Amino acid sequence: MSPNTSVSPPNASGQAILVAVGWPYANNHLHAGHLAGAYLPADIFARYQRMRGNRVLMVSGSDSHGTPVTVRAEQEGTTPEDVFQRYHQSFLDTFKGFGISFDLFTSTDTANHIEVTQQLFLQMLEQGDLYEADQELLFDSIAGRFLPDRYVEGICPKCSFDGARGDQCDNCGSTLDALDLINPRSKLSDATPERRKSRHFFLRLTAFTERLMKWIEQPEHRDWRPHVRNFTLGMLREGLIDRSITRDITWGVPIPLEGYESKRIYVWFEAVIGYLSATKEWAATSGNPDGWKAWWTDPAARTVYFIGKDNVPFHTVIWPAMLMSAGGLNLPSDVPANQYVTMSGSKASKSRGGVVWLPDYLERYDPDPFRYALTASMPETNDTDFTWADYVRRNNDELVARWGNLVNRVLTITRRNFDGRVPRAPSTLSPESQALLDRVDGAFDTVGGDYDRVQMRRALAGAIEVAGAANQYLDARAPWQAVKTDRDHAAETLYVAINAISGLITILNPVLPFTTQKAWEYLGHEGKVGIAGWRRTPVLAGTVLPEPGPLYRKLDDSVVAEEEARLGL
Ligand SMILES: [Zn+2]
Repeated sequence: MSPNTSVSPPNASGQAILVAVGWPYANNHLHAGHLAGAYLPADIFARYQRMRGNRVLMVSGSDSHGTPVTVRAEQEGTTPEDVFQRYHQSFLDTFKGFGISFDLFTSTDTANHIEVTQQLFLQMLEQGDLYEADQELLFDSIAGRFLPDRYVEGICPKCSFDGARGDQCDNCGSTLDALDLINPRSKLSDATPERRKSRHFFLRLTAFTERLMKWIEQPEHRDWRPHVRNFTLGMLREGLIDRSITRDITWGVPIPLEGYESKRIYVWFEAVIGYLSATKEWAATSGNPDGWKAWWTDPAARTVYFIGKDNVPFHTVIWPAMLMSAGGLNLPSDVPANQYVTMSGSKASKSRGGVVWLPDYLERYDPDPFRYALTASMPETNDTDFTWADYVRRNNDELVARWGNLVNRVLTITRRNFDGRVPRAPSTLSPESQALLDRVDGAFDTVGGDYDRVQMRRALAGAIEVAGAANQYLDARAPWQAVKTDRDHAAETLYVAINAISGLITILNPVLPFTTQKAWEYLGHEGKVGIAGWRRTPVLAGTVLPEPGPLYRKLDDSVVAEEEARLGL
């Protein structure tokens, strides 16, 4: 069974949990930073919650609009639609390859999304949370066009970084107004833009400062990640300003009013609505059009947003303000945004990409070792660094030698000495045998709690520690020797080790979905890992064990130099 089909069982009766994952701009392939930043933690969280029996809905989609897509189309001499379609397909392939188990990965280029967006736009306009005003904008008189957001670059007024874009500075993370850029230049003609007036719609953010402050200060939001909470509080204390939500472009969601045919609703307002529209799309497709309400109007639901840190203001300020305006919709329960992953200390050459492209990776290696390495160094509280040396070391020392070897040697010794079946253990286990099983069972609570709090590094470290304890147990009792002198002793050891492995497979499954599924089948289990829920599934004496294969490939050290050359190091 494909690990990609990890969806909540139809009879799941637990809590409704929306796993809302950031919408990537469809203007390039995804790289390791995207995976570690949002998709992998979201997938680990979703897989864990499904095994707990919760009603998980994991949604996202391609951000098909916005200047990143149109700028790329103009550079290539093609249409935005062509660019978006190409990378949307690339995203779908990448998610399949890495086992990112979306219930729906759609796009903003759907009739449903346009309808939901326009509806919310009109509702907010009627309530006075949107208003019309003239806006001074940068205009390229050579190209004869306004220069929204990424069409203009210059020096950041906050940190002096040269190369800040009209909407945001990638260096300091500030959201910017293009008019504040120092020495602005047009991306279309390199000209120095002039200022011109244009009529636009504004989001009255100033009206939400107090309500947002009260919301953030609620006790249940105090254990948000400090960098997310502090950034948000900082923004609110500095004071919000009204922001225009429409642009002088023709690629995007049309404004549902006459006289605005040459303008569009802009992405930063529109894309976040995708979480809601995608849920509605999923509900309609699954034959229950009102099904979306379980995640959006039932106050018992939990909504968790997985994004990179550059997207924090859109998810802790702007989207909550829009939801407050709409009324009756659940605000985010948590926004566990990740920091950045640098590649080999950012020494990688920018001109050659300087990143590990996910489609490239999948052409050469298996998905689970990358999921493992990125989880082990996930940038949860600060930026972390990925190196290929670390990847090879973790693959060889931890996956092959510790966890993979545990599974293989236990199954091989058992098959060879006990007629291919799980041996019988005494009715009362020795204290060290019982201690190992207790430790595995206890890890369902501790590691599970870490998954639930989105502390994936800690969760994985805890799980691997238990695998280490199982190895020590095995070494101490040496069943490969005992089998010649004390067969009952060896039988107990192998029975207990197999049952410990069964628990570890479930515990590690959220991080390693492909290889734990294989190991699950090697134990004679059927169906998907964790089919019986978040607990150790017993392997009974007498179970026939199929012949196991290797779970992981040992990698040669030469991989490090090869891959560093690809990074331009
Ligand atoms: Zn800056």
